[in-house]
Amino acid sequence: MEAAPAVQRSTHQSVEKGRSRHKISRDVETDITYLYEVLPQLSQIFRIIDKIGEGTFSSVYLAEAQMTDGSRRMFALKHLIPTSHPVRIAAELQCLTVAGGTENVMGVTYCFRKEHHVVIVMPYMEHQTFVDVVGSLSFEDVKHYIFHLLKALRHIHKFGIIHRDIKPTNFLFNQQRREYSLVDFGLAQGTHDTQIELLKGLLSKPKREEVIPRKIVSSKHRSVPVRTPLNQRQKTPAESQKPKPPAVSPMLTCNCYMTDRVCNICLSRKQQVAPRAGTPGFRAPEVLTKCPNQGTAIDMWSAGVILLSLLSGRYPFFKANDDLIALTQIMTIRGSKETIEAAKTFGKSIVCSRELPRLDLRILCETLRGLRSWDDSSLPAEFQASRNPAEVKLDAGSPAKKHMSSGSFKSSAELQEMGWDKVPDDVYDLLDKLLDLNPATRITASMALQHPLFKDMTD
Ligand code: ADP
Ligand code: MG
Ligand code: ZN
Repeated sequence: MEAAPAVQRSTHQSVEKGRSRHKISRDVETDITYLYEVLPQLSQIFRIIDKIGEGTFSSVYLAEAQMTDGSRRMFALKHLIPTSHPVRIAAELQCLTVAGGTENVMGVTYCFRKEHHVVIVMPYMEHQTFVDVVGSLSFEDVKHYIFHLLKALRHIHKFGIIHRDIKPTNFLFNQQRREYSLVDFGLAQGTHDTQIELLKGLLSKPKREEVIPRKIVSSKHRSVPVRTPLNQRQKTPAESQKPKPPAVSPMLTCNCYMTDRVCNICLSRKQQVAPRAGTPGFRAPEVLTKCPNQGTAIDMWSAGVILLSLLSGRYPFFKANDDLIALTQIMTIRGSKETIEAAKTFGKSIVCSRELPRLDLRILCETLRGLRSWDDSSLPAEFQASRNPAEVKLDAGSPAKKHMSSGSFKSSAELQEMGWDKVPDDVYDLLDKLLDLNPATRITASMALQHPLFKDMTD
């Protein structure tokens, strides 16, 4: 870790002074005052200017410090919620200190703590909101974006870090400067051979082999119960090598297997313990089905979902509050038969009442982007709602804000200028390999960087 940002003055700059330069709301002002109160050390060094992020686990502030040479530098201060587990906090910091500061991964400058309040100080990276830029990117921009995301992933995966929450809000992007930075190791976990000591305690160790609850998602068109009866469960190769976790659940046989009903035996089963962090729309099939063996491949899937948004110009692409809805949305694109087959390889059995065909990724993306006529593309009924940009039906992705606010899709001349008329097959091949339903064959970050798509890029 670097030394604390050195300062010349130690006078407390009031929030009011910050307010005069930068319009902030009363609420934000209250939060800033509170932060100075719980961590008084901050006022010796920083002038906190604004709140720039607020999530479930933290609030992030923009702050300025005057350095010893008289220059001013901007920092991002991440105030973790006081209830965060100390090991969790330390692990997040260790990811940043060990893997950060290079290869498009955010670094850390310092960390403050007083009692249960912790602030992680990082260099501030100015960035745009993904939804604001996704519609205005050229194909070349998209290629760069995904290349740099893959670089960050290759780097953290080398350290045995599984990020678990890869999504655009955690990959900061500055369009003008073509700068990228992976942030937020708040949900990270370690692989079995991780180099991050503190992630070892946070290894995904399911304590027992259990079956997930018999939940059924029903809509007018489908019902997709996901089930894993104990007597049907297959071992994955990785699992067979490892010592077997003690099976504490009784071996029950039931009569609802492979039907779309749920029997009482199954209703009484305990919930399966498996890591399930992240955002439903970015979760890999093995995460959605609570497969206990999850590796760095889960981040690759999420990168694939981001690439799907970049190519189709739709964000969020999958919007689901529920894992089974997310799984249905995946099947809508990747095919139900294919999803069921892949799930078998990691010991999960999925029932889908209706067969959903696998879609051609190029046709899908080009149609959603407005490069191809809806009538010729024969996309399934699920997508008809996303045909009209005004009607934001999110489960097939909504058109990017830029498109909507400008009132129309880009003209074909504009699209041509942005390179969207001659997108190479390579990118759809890479997308297909990232969105591989089977984590065992899914492309890794270092393999992806060797993909022909990037042959003209210097790594
Ligand atoms: P959370 O765990 O609450 O999601 P993050 O670490 O993802 O916290 O930070 C939340 C948001 O704060 C990010 O999406 C980003 O907009 C902003 N942010 C975080 N770190 C930085 C940074 N170093 N520079 C600029 N903005 C940042
Ligand atoms: Mg985040
Ligand atoms: Zn049953």
